Amino acid sequence: MPAETEIKAKAGAAIIPVTLFEQNCTLIWCEATRKAVVIDPGGDVPRIRAAIQQSNVSVDKIWLTHGHIDHVGGAAELRDALKVPIEGPHVEDKFLLDNVVASGARFGMTGVRDFTPDRWLSEGDEGSVGQLTFEILHCPGHSPGSVVFFSRELRFAHVGDVLFNGSVGRTDLPGGSHDTLIRSIIEKLLPLGDDIGFICGHGAGSSFGQERKTNPFLAGAT
Ligand SMILES: [Zn+2]
Ligand SMILES: [Zn+2]
Repeated sequence: MPAETEIKAKAGAAIIPVTLFEQNCTLIWCEATRKAVVIDPGGDVPRIRAAIQQSNVSVDKIWLTHGHIDHVGGAAELRDALKVPIEGPHVEDKFLLDNVVASGARFGMTGVRDFTPDRWLSEGDEGSVGQLTFEILHCPGHSPGSVVFFSRELRFAHVGDVLFNGSVGRTDLPGGSHDTLIRSIIEKLLPLGDDIGFICGHGAGSSFGQERKTNPFLAGAT
């Protein structure tokens, strides 16, 4: 049974760690409608499907925060199984989605496929899950096409690998830029408010306030 987290009373979430990278595949649902989204199905699709069944929700879309293999390796397979569209990431990560098979091979991940999402996401776009609305923030730096899903109402964000509890995303992979990443965090995420809680791509979540005050990579951020 995946650990369940309540996001206010209107939404629920379950984290399903997948792949050898222990990536936080995340199921988020609207309590009123029990409609759900799967964020970053990186692999281990049977485990993701079991978690969906246990949570008793109806998934009607897949969201991708960025194009790295541990976040997208199971996306094409899950899209086929559930017959739902894939939304995201930003088109600047197309070069990664065009090379899923090649990057999977480097980590012994078989059965993965290159694919094109049904919808690329851009800054200012919106995504919905049942009655919940999420704003799309384009936050490059970890990868050029990284996006963050932000719910103003829930005071919650899913930040992928942009920001972590006590750290930030690595920037040594193709298209990465540390300066760009820090700017994304300081200019787009932190101004949303100290009270915003987040789930990230690996490890425990946190809040923007806690990271603003204690994250060594953000020292000096106001
Ligand atoms: Zn990544
Ligand atoms: Zn990752």
